[in-house]
Amino acid sequence: MIKAVIFDLDGTLYQSTVIREKFAEAAYLTLSRFQKITLADARKLIETRRDELGKKTGAGVPYTLVLKSFGVTIEFWHRENINYFDPRKYLSRDERLIESLVRLKEQYKLAVLTNNNLVQTERTLEALGITNLFCRIFTYNTYKLLKPDITFFKKAADDLQVIPGECLFVGDRYDVDLEPALSLGMKIRHVKGPEDIYSLAV
Ligand SMILES: [Mg+2]
Repeated sequence: MIKAVIFDLDGTLYQSTVIREKFAEAAYLTLSRFQKITLADARKLIETRRDELGKKTGAGVPYTLVLKSFGVTIEFWHRENINYFDPRKYLSRDERLIESLVRLKEQYKLAVLTNNNLVQTERTLEALGITNLFCRIFTYNTYKLLKPDITFFKKAADDLQVIPGECLFVGDRYDVDLEPALSLGMKIRHVKGPEDIYSLAV
């Protein structure tokens, strides 16, 4: 029996081309500062590495994992992207999402589990109007762990006082969100964005 529904954040609870671009620009800036190279060179390096890594998984690789492959610390990356853009500028309240989550909350513990940092996560949830609908928000800052590390998923389930088999994980990336969740025994739902959550039946 499902007791908790755990959501990825970016690309799952919202879809935004502008924010995807902002993340990309922030990543280029981060690598250019880290390696003391031009922005254009950083962009080339990142997109080439992203293509290489993507060939292995067959999916778009998150910038966090690309930067990590260059030795950029997560703390450095997060500091840069927090300063570079504020998601509240580009997102607005999603009434249909709010309704759906309110409905789910009547039956299940709801949580967010993201590789994003706490600052950007809180800004994003605030913009969407859904901050208070989750009993727990797990970010990189919670345990200093990143998906697809299954320890991140396991600790979150422990924290929610449920076993993995009682969790449904909802995410947009199979290799990062769903494969590790599945390997722990969680149920999974692959979504392409919030539209798929409006009609989510657990
Ligand atoms: Mg995502």
